[in-house]
Amino acid sequence: MTQFSNSRRRFLLTASATAATTVLIKGCVGNPPDQTSSAASGSSPAASPAVAVQAGQEPEVKTAKLGYIPIVESAPLIIAKEKGFFAKYGMPDVEVAKQANWGAARDNVKIGSGGGGIDGGQWQMPMPYLISEGIITDNTKVPMYVLCQLNTNGNGIAIAGNHKGKGIGLKLDGKADFFSQMKSSGTRFKAAYTFPKANQEFWIRYWLAAGGINPDTEVELLTVPASQTVADMKRGAMDAFSTGDPWPYRIVADDVGFLAALTSEIWKDHPEEYFAVRSDWADKHPKATKALIKAIIEAQQWCDNFDNRKEMASILSRREYFALPEEVLLNPLMGKYNMGERQIDDRSMAVLYWKDSKGSVSYPYKSHDLWFLTESVRWGFLPKETLTGAQALIDKVNREDIWKEAAQEMGIAAADIPTSTSRGVEEFFDGIKFDPANPQAYLDSLKIKA
Ligand code: CA
Repeated sequence: MTQFSNSRRRFLLTASATAATTVLIKGCVGNPPDQTSSAASGSSPAASPAVAVQAGQEPEVKTAKLGYIPIVESAPLIIAKEKGFFAKYGMPDVEVAKQANWGAARDNVKIGSGGGGIDGGQWQMPMPYLISEGIITDNTKVPMYVLCQLNTNGNGIAIAGNHKGKGIGLKLDGKADFFSQMKSSGTRFKAAYTFPKANQEFWIRYWLAAGGINPDTEVELLTVPASQTVADMKRGAMDAFSTGDPWPYRIVADDVGFLAALTSEIWKDHPEEYFAVRSDWADKHPKATKALIKAIIEAQQWCDNFDNRKEMASILSRREYFALPEEVLLNPLMGKYNMGERQIDDRSMAVLYWKDSKGSVSYPYKSHDLWFLTESVRWGFLPKETLTGAQALIDKVNREDIWKEAAQEMGIAAADIPTSTSRGVEEFFDGIKFDPANPQAYLDSLKIKA
């Protein structure tokens, strides 16, 4: 792909420099003050919307430290900072802090901003639940609130180029031999993701199992940091990779592999990543919590205007954020995916932040949290009994009520505020249905499970 060859070397150098820096700094990686304060100080000409804090809604604090991972899911946090929306709602000193990886984000929220970490930020599901319950924090329960969904779509499954032309696409029906032959020759198909037991592992497991491939027996699953994926796939260390844009697209752009499926093909307008904070921070700062939601909502509306996406790509591509050439971000943001073996040009398949074909993206549906917990039970990540207590757990962690209050206070139209905490029955590409009223029926309908 000659159009990318010039930028690739620069990108790889930047990526390894970034990796080295994050190792040295170790804990939380904040942006230097000159980068984070630009919106607050008004030095950026684009960042000066009028302050919109009504009497009685003044946030208790002007700052919060929010972590993000450099994938398109984080755009509402970065745009809220860069376009001055945090400042508009009375929180000019919010910091958006790049996290070295998901494990670092988890460790940083465990210690909180008081300990040099973060108050909250961007999460895959069900991380806020696993952190709240102490499951991935060494049995230390750090209660969190899920406040907002950040995005839908915008993720994909990339396959190494040496498997091109073997019919590995969205549907794997009839491909069992391909996987079993690799297994019997001693090189099981290796599928990677950036953090275990969360979205990206769920997407690749769902895709494989829907095609009759048991991910626990036919495939080797492994965790790899996103910044390492292009190099690892190039040297043959992995056959498949599941993550957010721009990484899947990057693999095609660099001619290292192709895309088997977009997550929007597996489950159109699926739940993806979320904004969640420590509940002790939110309980102490209820007005600031709503101010953060309002700023994120306004950023989501801005991001969903496709006329803004070129500017969005330009902001996200900057060194302090994704450190990528702008052109690898812009195509997937516009719904233009070169899949390698086919082309997709459809804005409804792109990452969306505010509205999708099913309604609100931003509102955190409790029925989606239930799917993530149910899928965790499916694969044996959480015990079966989780389903019995799931509703009580969801009611504790998911604070859609705070989202609604924030949306009402900022004057969001009633039609854009969901009236039910359930989005209703969901349907996947293989015809399987998830009825939130009966998660057990969904589990019973699945042929492959732990
Ligand atoms: Ca993702």
